[in-house]
Amino acid sequence: MSWKRRERWRRRTESGDGERAREGEPRRLEKTNRSAASNGSIDLDLLDCTICMDPLRPPVLQCTVGHVICSSCHGSLLNKDSCHMCTATGGYNRCIALDKILESFCVSCSNAVYGCTVKTLYYKAKDHRNLCPHAPCFCPGPACSFAGTTVKLLAHLTGDHKWKSKEVKYDAKFTLPVKEGTWVLHAQGHAPLFLVKFTPAPPFGNVASVLCVGPHATAEHRFRCCLRCSGPAIGQQKSSDFLVRSTTLSDGLQLTEYDGSLLFASSTRSITAHIRDVVRDKHKRGMSIRLR
Ligand SMILES: [Zn+2]
Ligand SMILES: [Zn+2]
Ligand SMILES: [Zn+2]
Ligand SMILES: [Zn+2]
Repeated sequence: MSWKRRERWRRRTESGDGERAREGEPRRLEKTNRSAASNGSIDLDLLDCTICMDPLRPPVLQCTVGHVICSSCHGSLLNKDSCHMCTATGGYNRCIALDKILESFCVSCSNAVYGCTVKTLYYKAKDHRNLCPHAPCFCPGPACSFAGTTVKLLAHLTGDHKWKSKEVKYDAKFTLPVKEGTWVLHAQGHAPLFLVKFTPAPPFGNVASVLCVGPHATAEHRFRCCLRCSGPAIGQQKSSDFLVRSTTLSDGLQLTEYDGSLLFASSTRSITAHIRDVVRDKHKRGMSIRLR
């Protein structure tokens, strides 16, 4: 290829016209090299809105000087003519170049260290993180710094700390022998874990308390638990039905007076329990009403 032809080719590929050029193969090579070269670093603060500090998402708006804000903050500005940072007048306009960067700039999930291989656009990273199945839960053991998925936490609690465990199914009754300490209940896959803690409560007997351990502790209660015991004497049959609090155990195994529990006589050898997924049940009920 002569120098002049090569120069024409370089300009065409840089301007994007190379897509239509017959020399398809060199264009692909150039793309590969450019993506390899893009593994640099960038100050992510530059990709955040200067008002709400959230990651910018297209369409981005900029003042006449170049300060960028998100469209949502632009919508709430009382004075849209003057920049909130530099007071330059002239209003805000679209910043197409930054929109294109945002539509191509991907980041690894922050839970990559816990095994997540997902990459998302930077401005969509939080959406993924809020649902990421690899978000960590924490070991409540004193002075233990273990963090990992529920699957790994289960292996850690039963292997390293020798906690008792039991596989359970939702909506199916199961029995737990009363032993001081904590049981780890688990279903299959990445499902949340349940901790059942037996604590002596003299002079009455014992208390069984239940917590749900999952990667995304929310205020919404997803599970309901029913604990029952049938003591040898009349009047010792007791039960307790409650919504289960969800936690990542980031603050350790802390039980509060609001957590569901069952108080029973110390002569009780075992209790029965069953767990229901109330969110799934609600969804199922909605489906059956729609199908009717
Ligand atoms: Zn904003
Ligand atoms: Zn400005
Ligand atoms: Zn993830
Ligand atoms: Zn531990």
